[in-house]
Amino acid sequence: MSRREQQRIKKEQMIEEKGVIYLDNVHKVYSSGSPALNGINLSIKKGEFVFIVGDSGSGKSTMIKLLLRELKASEGNVYVMGNNLSKLRHGKIPRFRRNLGVVFQDFRLLNDRNVYENVAFAQRIVETPAREIRRNVPAVLATVGLASKYKAKTNQLSGGEQQRVALARALVNKPSILLADEPTGNLDPKNSWEIMKLLEEINEDGTTVVVVTHNREIVNAMHKRVVTMKKGVIVSDQEGGEYIEED
Ligand code: ADP
Ligand code: MG
Repeated sequence: MSRREQQRIKKEQMIEEKGVIYLDNVHKVYSSGSPALNGINLSIKKGEFVFIVGDSGSGKSTMIKLLLRELKASEGNVYVMGNNLSKLRHGKIPRFRRNLGVVFQDFRLLNDRNVYENVAFAQRIVETPAREIRRNVPAVLATVGLASKYKAKTNQLSGGEQQRVALARALVNKPSILLADEPTGNLDPKNSWEIMKLLEEINEDGTTVVVVTHNREIVNAMHKRVVTMKKGVIVSDQEGGEYIEED
């Protein structure tokens, strides 16, 4: 068996045993101040839908950044798709990130480009052949309900539409995991529900979905697994959970 084949099997065993996301006693200390994460243990299985909730400053975004390997853990290990991110070499980060789709509160679109270009751009970065791009972009725009708006400049769209473009961009490379950090933070209730329903559909199609949110009403209505953080630790982790009242 080749070394590469051995590595692939090892990663698959890791995913099988520990989950597609696995944090083992993870600490993160920024150069200034107290720890942002203080001993996080968390396992997320392939195909799960998980809400991460908690007060502002509890470490939710820090955790997302560790999963994206934007940051490195100060202590402990972060595994994503069977890769130990503390050991992942720099040159391998771009390839690793192809497994991940990510959506933020502030959309982060290219505002001088149209909808189509914003989504196609994500495919060009990973060197998808032009022919496939022409096929994939309309398909993913249809998934998020924006097929007819492909020519619109993103700054002419409503917030809900902009977030759907961001979602299409996150999905077009068919990631195994979708990470969303407060994706409905800038949206009204109706658009928030639409985005959450899309995330649920994406999950039903097999993608593992992790959503950081403050939206109590949606969390309580959707009956998913809810992980609650407080001051850098997980204080509750419940299947079919609820948004726990802050004290
Ligand atoms: P949340 O997303 O739950 O609001 P964050 O992960 O953004 O929390 O922040 C957790 C803690 O880490 C906070 O105390 C925050 O002030 C601190 N923090 C976040 N980013 C940085 C940074 N780049 N440098 C220093 N401290 C940071
Ligand atoms: Mg945050």
